[in-house]
Amino acid sequence: MNKLWLLGTGTPTPTPERFGTAYVLQLDGEHIMIDCGPAATHKLVKAGLYPTQIAHLVFTHHHFDHNADYPCFLLCRWDQSTGAEKLLHVWGPSPTELITERLIGPEGAFVFDWQARVNHPTSQSVHRNRGGSLPRPEPQVRVTDLQPDQTIEQDGWQMRTAAACHMEPWLLSLAYRFETDEYAIVFAGDTEPCKAVDQLAADADALVVNCWDHQQSMEENGEGPGQTSTVDAARMAADAGVELLVLTHTGIALSKPGSREKAIADIACIYDGRIVFGEELLELNL
Ligand SMILES: [Zn+2]
Repeated sequence: MNKLWLLGTGTPTPTPERFGTAYVLQLDGEHIMIDCGPAATHKLVKAGLYPTQIAHLVFTHHHFDHNADYPCFLLCRWDQSTGAEKLLHVWGPSPTELITERLIGPEGAFVFDWQARVNHPTSQSVHRNRGGSLPRPEPQVRVTDLQPDQTIEQDGWQMRTAAACHMEPWLLSLAYRFETDEYAIVFAGDTEPCKAVDQLAADADALVVNCWDHQQSMEENGEGPGQTSTVDAARMAADAGVELLVLTHTGIALSKPGSREKAIADIACIYDGRIVFGEELLELNL
């Protein structure tokens, strides 16, 4: 069965209910993590998953609400590994490779941590008692910078990219379509409505989209460009013909009781499929 865990459904503004963005998609038995926002590793474990289960980590873009937990996830997955796990493959727009190098490479910020764990006898014992063997390997990860309009074939599933429209030219952002023979789900990432993402989402089964605030508020306060409103999200889902729309990256104004219900009602006027207002640690059967 395909599943989606919503780990982070928030924004850069921390609230008790949500903070940052992260998901895990179970597709054809593979666990794919999409974005790694604040506390994603802890939320992953709270959701009943474990870092060593994750075979792929895919970044939509490198705003901190989408990647701040990346060093934590990398180091935790490496620290907990016994050697029996798949090699982690990390994907994302440039500079995913550079960021990774600057975190765990020989000159990286966390080299002092992992060198101590590799060499100190107590850390070696912890590793061996966990099921690992010596000499303790250094962190290893496969990293690939992606471009728009790429198709990556994997065993049993594929991943397609499209250029999202968010914070260019300072940050590159990608939307992703994950697909098997039977199922397709699109993660728009942070974006305003755009043709490339619409085309990527066409005829998919599900669409996960950032939904910052009500249309009218965003038109009035200048927060519209680069982001999606309630009405935009509804139009994107209706045009794509998806059965499931997951609203995520919801701003603090939209997440308030009352405001949330109005958002869902407004969207339901345009889009007649299933609407999920994303709450953290929600597990969806797809
Ligand atoms: Zn962003």
